[in-house]
Amino acid sequence: MDFVSQTLIGFDRVKSILEELGIKLTQNSDGKVYPMSREAKSVVEILLYEALNLKVEILYNQDVKNISKDRDFIIQTSSNSFKTSKLIIASGSSVYPQLGASNIGLDIASSFKHNIIPTSPSLVQLTTPNPIKSLSGYRQKAKVKLISNGTTIQEVSGDVLFTNYGISGLAILDISYLVAKGLNNYEYIELSINLLEDLKTLSINKSSNKPSKLWLSGFINQKLAQIILSQNSLLDKKEKDINTKDIKKIIYSLKNFRLEIDGTRGEKGAEVMAGGIDTRELNYNMSSKLVDNLYFIGEVVDVVGDRGGYNLHWAWSSALRLVDI
Ligand SMILES: Cc1cc2nc3c(=O)[nH]c(=O)nc-3n(C[C@H](O)[C@H](O)[C@H](O)COP(=O)(O)OP(=O)(O)OC[C@H]3O[C@@H](n4cnc5c(N)ncnc54)[C@H](O)[C@@H]3O)c2cc1C
Repeated sequence: MDFVSQTLIGFDRVKSILEELGIKLTQNSDGKVYPMSREAKSVVEILLYEALNLKVEILYNQDVKNISKDRDFIIQTSSNSFKTSKLIIASGSSVYPQLGASNIGLDIASSFKHNIIPTSPSLVQLTTPNPIKSLSGYRQKAKVKLISNGTTIQEVSGDVLFTNYGISGLAILDISYLVAKGLNNYEYIELSINLLEDLKTLSINKSSNKPSKLWLSGFINQKLAQIILSQNSLLDKKEKDINTKDIKKIIYSLKNFRLEIDGTRGEKGAEVMAGGIDTRELNYNMSSKLVDNLYFIGEVVDVVGDRGGYNLHWAWSSALRLVDI
């Protein structure tokens, strides 16, 4: 069995721990679970209250700069030095530096000779070499195919949102892990987006003199209509001149909207970092196989989950693995 299946804790256990602490949960009809308060702040405050009750000392504004080891670990922060016999690294990854994220966990692991699986931002927006700026702000439910070197490698459904740098939306975050991986391997990445899955045909009035753009914007977003008609050299036509072949071309373009992808929005836009400390060098209780009394939990480890709470679940699961230390 792989490392994650061995270490993951069942959701029921996490649920009962949270509920015991007073964080009540509620489940939506789609199966997603939220705090009943619908507020992250109340979750933080209840967890903090519990930690202080257990006499956990929390030191704020202490940037960890370096950790070394003789008999004990020596932790050097921006203003102090501490010694400890056991050390748990739960420093997350470097995504979202706006919130104080840093690479310190991987730096410490490297200094203790741990192998690091190369990192790449994941659950992240994507950039295109030629952003379609006029479509910026256009959001649509769509089916997205991820094509790498000409082969479809993933297909997802969900929101897409065109932006002035490229594309975002839930469907895009869902495919971003494989996109980043492909780009790291210098693959040619493109998306084929079905923007109107249910569209079968478009009707025309053979006596209408309407410009084609006005005709098509009766069916689809006006900015999109302009782009699709321009791609098919139909912008100058009148509604009455649109023929069956034109309609087929328009529908094909809407169902196979192509977008080349040349990058991601990186750490500043990502929700999670793929890669990290090599799980082959960790035991199932999250201890290091290389250094006694050293533990790594959460996102600093090379485990990445899909969108939908799986990354927080990993952080909690790996932390719960420590209870026996
Ligand atoms: C915008 C955003 C949205 C997200 N949404 C979701 C979601 O909906 N569902 C989900 O499952 N996951 C989500 N995630 C991911 C999830 O938050 C993380 O995977 C999870 O919090 C990782 O937990 P962790 O304890 O390993 O690290 P973190 O929660 O990142 O905690 C690490 C801590 O270490 C501190 N730190 C870093 N460097 C230093 C240093 N040098 N000295 C001292 N302290 C330091 C940081 O300030 C931080 O407090 C989201 C992440 C982001 C950024």
